[in-house]
Amino acid sequence: MARSLIPRAAALVPALFAAVSAAAQQAPPSPEQVLGYALGERFTPYSGVQQYARALAAAAPDRVRYQPYGQTYEGRELFQLVVARPDVMQRLDAVLAANAELTRPETSVARAAQVASGNPAVVYFSYGVHGNESSSSEAALWTAWDLARGAADVRGVLDSVVVIIDPVTNPDGRDRYVNWFRSVRGERPNPDPQSREHREPWPGGRYNHYLFDLNRDWSWGTQRETRQRLATWWRWNPQVHVDFHEMGYNSSYFFFPATAPINPIYPDYVLKWGRRFGQANAQAFDRQGWSYYTAEEFDLFYPGYGDSWPSLTGAIGMTYEQAGHGAAGQAVTRSDGDTLTLRERAMHHWASGEATLRATAAGKSQLLADYASAARTAGAGEQDFLLVPGTDPTRVQALVAHLRMQGIEVERANGGFGAGARAYPGFPQRSQFPAGTYRVRARQRLGRLAVTLLQQETPLRASFSYDISAWSLPYAYGVAAYRVNPGQGGGWSPVPAAAAEPGNVNAPVAAYGYLVLPGAEQTGAVMRFLDAGGRARVLSKPATFGGRRWPAGTWFIPARGNDSLQARATRTGLGAYASSVSTGHSEDGIDLGSENVRAVKRPRVAVVSGDGVDPSSFGALWFFMDQQLGMNFDAMDGSALAGADLSVYDVVVIPDASPRALRGAEEALKQFVQRGGRVVALAGGAEAFAATAEIKVREAAKDSAARSRYLAGREERERQEFRQEVPGIIASVTLDPAHPLAFGAGQDANPAQTFVLHQGSLVFEPGEGIETVAYFGAAPQRLSGVISPENLRRLGQGGWLVTKEMGRGSVVLFADDPLFRLFWRSSQPLLLNAILLGP
Ligand SMILES: [Zn+2]
Repeated sequence: MARSLIPRAAALVPALFAAVSAAAQQAPPSPEQVLGYALGERFTPYSGVQQYARALAAAAPDRVRYQPYGQTYEGRELFQLVVARPDVMQRLDAVLAANAELTRPETSVARAAQVASGNPAVVYFSYGVHGNESSSSEAALWTAWDLARGAADVRGVLDSVVVIIDPVTNPDGRDRYVNWFRSVRGERPNPDPQSREHREPWPGGRYNHYLFDLNRDWSWGTQRETRQRLATWWRWNPQVHVDFHEMGYNSSYFFFPATAPINPIYPDYVLKWGRRFGQANAQAFDRQGWSYYTAEEFDLFYPGYGDSWPSLTGAIGMTYEQAGHGAAGQAVTRSDGDTLTLRERAMHHWASGEATLRATAAGKSQLLADYASAARTAGAGEQDFLLVPGTDPTRVQALVAHLRMQGIEVERANGGFGAGARAYPGFPQRSQFPAGTYRVRARQRLGRLAVTLLQQETPLRASFSYDISAWSLPYAYGVAAYRVNPGQGGGWSPVPAAAAEPGNVNAPVAAYGYLVLPGAEQTGAVMRFLDAGGRARVLSKPATFGGRRWPAGTWFIPARGNDSLQARATRTGLGAYASSVSTGHSEDGIDLGSENVRAVKRPRVAVVSGDGVDPSSFGALWFFMDQQLGMNFDAMDGSALAGADLSVYDVVVIPDASPRALRGAEEALKQFVQRGGRVVALAGGAEAFAATAEIKVREAAKDSAARSRYLAGREERERQEFRQEVPGIIASVTLDPAHPLAFGAGQDANPAQTFVLHQGSLVFEPGEGIETVAYFGAAPQRLSGVISPENLRRLGQGGWLVTKEMGRGSVVLFADDPLFRLFWRSSQPLLLNAILLGP
């Protein structure tokens, strides 16, 4: 059936474009008319989604706009379909400008009421952020069609709502899944879940190109897709955002309200409207006799989701989950014996989306008024934040750039000032603040987002967390932070959005060479410089030049031996961090010709990938080296290691992985190290490699009450089991500041301290022949997040970063992934050093 339709569709599309002006009043085409198959008959590749969206916009230009907003890493165009009533579309900019007034705390109640009654609300639907949860993008096309033609289910909706349809927020992931599925499907879909069309190969279509989970990235914005979408957010200022997902195919359908834990900072109306939308969806599903559930499993705590982040901006952010997922293929036999088809999955998302639109339309004035009142109370009763630049100014600059990218307002002090301030634990108390101190006011339109991202701890009023329970950005960046009452200091200047990025700065003229401080940003620039053929050395002891003390780990870039140094330093970004020196003779400490100043070469690196490797951990390494360092490496399947010539590498990196990623490769890796190589292994990869390196992993907590746990009831047992886990906490670790692995990682006030995001239960036992470069103190302190007292005690004097020489080489093990989601900068210098300063 579908085959015979293809030529017809192909013939139809050019005809449609040709007849645009004449056809504007005709009924817009259905997806079936354009694509040639009915809902769920096949997966629509991304090009098909674009094709239909363009056809719809061409046929109904007064109601539908195709709005590109960016591009993925693989070059696919990101776009939104804007659907509005023709007269609203004509004056869309004015409508959105009036709605934007509702986001401002200073807008009066009267003005807000006027806008709320006269203006439409804005609903933003995001489909397919997880590329292999693919039914939602099929539904998106049908919802768009219904809106464009005024179908009965959505009749009148456009009188009260502007709808933004983002039909595929992760096009690279979608096409990875859809292309794979098409390559393994036979003439008919096979519903047997054991057949290969239900078993996606590594890494799967969930992730974007660099294997990031974009539904964890909203608050960090590390990925292009996220950043480009957020850049449009402030134009739309949506009141409702729905993120359409899929879950295991034996489940049913989930919609809001969410379950605990819920970030307590949300205004009441977010939760109230979550229940109201839940009721509207329930009615629609009841009419069809479909099953669903609410208020279980999906929480609203971690700020990087497509429900929690929009909610922090004042929208009603919600997640809808349909049973299905990559394992469901086009049809799958469920454990209850029923067959679940792609068509059914898509119809459920279609129905929930339209029920949500009807509920929005029915209550839009109230919704807009609630949204405005939330803006008026954002950050009320909260203290402001002060962020103080340290000796490595790139840390605070990177943090400020992050906050600006999120839309948060930041100001910079024009002069020094005194203030009664409360220091974050781990940073020194102070009452005087220098010029250049940054301030983030809690009372601003995105006050709730600012407070959530910056405060030491977001209270977790539950015994469970679906994700990490801590993320406080001052610790993530290693920036000294303080809370103060509003109204401190003298003059403040707003920080523009773009100026926070360092950009290309001309390198100074160098008589003898450059000195560059150690640190994540600078070391990245040194790596790019080495990659471009430059030469660099590192000081392994401190020295004073020009009255300034340069710590161990400082880079020396000699003028001699570096052709066209200034130009190359500028081109590779090193210029932003370089200070020139005119002599090699120090005022104090070592001279630049010392044997303690060693040449560093660009290492040849392999990174283990493939089955058993955590895709996101590999992906973060890939992005970090490829995009941030501009450094090539060989990705190698774990199963290929044993047969490969490892002698061409200086460093092999093992991302977070299960033991099966290394099965059969242990001996080859051991010989590689003994012949002079270095293995750097992270989290699960480190645990898997520890035995080969003869490094002891600490045993799980001794459970003295094991017997009572086995006898406990089911709920109590679940609670206790949760206490055995560490979902992600912030803790301080003690560094060995003289060790090359720790260069550039310490804090100003205490070079022997940094902060880590610790998950799971892995720590290493200190022992003979092992150098413990970073470890938890004897009585570890939790700075933020959930951990049971017994697990915290268990970390005491446990190794977080250990290294050991084996033969002529060495092994470096990290207890956690230092690049986790790429937002935790404090541990990045440690990884850079492990890769760069080893061989
Ligand atoms: Zn999902």
